[in-house]
Amino acid sequence: MEIEKELKAESDLKPLPDPSNLGFGIHFTDHMFLMDYIDGQGWHKPRIVPYGDFNLDPAAVVLHYGQAIFEGLKAYRGNDGRIRLFRPMENMKRMNRSAWRMCMPQIDERTTLDAIKELVRVESRWVPDQHGTSLYIRPFLIATEAFLGVRPAREYLFSVILCPVGAYYAEGFNPVKIFVTEKFVRAAKGGVGEAKTAGNYAASLMASEEAKKLGFTQVLWLDAAERRYVEEVGTMNIFFLIEDVLVTPALSGSILPGITRDSVIHLAKSWGIKVEERPISIDEIIEKSKSGLLQESFGSGTAAVISPVGSLYYMGDTIEINQGKTGPLAKRLFNEITAIQYGDKEDEFGWIETIE
Ligand SMILES: *Cc1c(COP(=O)(O)O)cnc(C)c1O
Repeated sequence: MEIEKELKAESDLKPLPDPSNLGFGIHFTDHMFLMDYIDGQGWHKPRIVPYGDFNLDPAAVVLHYGQAIFEGLKAYRGNDGRIRLFRPMENMKRMNRSAWRMCMPQIDERTTLDAIKELVRVESRWVPDQHGTSLYIRPFLIATEAFLGVRPAREYLFSVILCPVGAYYAEGFNPVKIFVTEKFVRAAKGGVGEAKTAGNYAASLMASEEAKKLGFTQVLWLDAAERRYVEEVGTMNIFFLIEDVLVTPALSGSILPGITRDSVIHLAKSWGIKVEERPISIDEIIEKSKSGLLQESFGSGTAAVISPVGSLYYMGDTIEINQGKTGPLAKRLFNEITAIQYGDKEDEFGWIETIE
């Protein structure tokens, strides 16, 4: 892929934000990647241009019927100064699965990843080097055709934007309080819960706002049909350690197949821990907790890596987990995954792609 480049003059580059106060999704870099798609012509005009507004027709399909998908991954700068991506081809593959589900065009996984790497190379001064910080990469695809009708659009825009982000646990590993909702659901089997599509997040806002008002950090979603089986926590996959067995809901069609989830399963198995991917009901969790067999719970996702769950609030009762403290397995997984991401540990599974 021949990428056209229109780069800003040195004197127009933005000042870098304070690396100790980056937050998440606030600061954007100097440039972005764009590529267009038209039915019959395919992908064309890959380009890196100054970060700025899009020109969108008010009738663009994405604004009315929500054909929009995205990905999220990070570039990590190690102590050796090198920049690493963690399993980035998995993000490309998942983007294509999301695109398929939303009737959007497929991207070429390898050349698109190479374009992302080129953008990160151009913006390498934006990859922070303090431990725990990283450059968040947000590829997304939207339907741009001006047409008010319900059918797949014929024109699309693929873009990648970047933002330096702070350490998730700047103040240490803090277990979160979770609200289990029986009133709202995130996704039903046969729906679009498996796809990283914009509408899923709009649909989740009401429940998380209600939970926040009550003093909780996140929502635990139950299945749509019976409101009994655990699905995900916020925008993370969920794990439970029960009698030394690591249990996570099976990918049933309504759960987002997380890359961190897959990495956790891989690592736990490699350490000789038994892992079960199966339906797990909230009743089972309550029962195991009451009988003292529930040892740990944590969420997994790119943003936080591992997020320990301190308690679950369900129908008026609080289930406390590991006395509200971070468990040893959550800590071990967090340390191992971040060590691989920052190049402090050997990449024995071939999960790292470096940016030279
Ligand atoms: C992105 C996402 C996850 C986590 O996926 P990772 O690949 O591990 O970052 C989990 N659940 C939802 C709903 C998500 O959007």
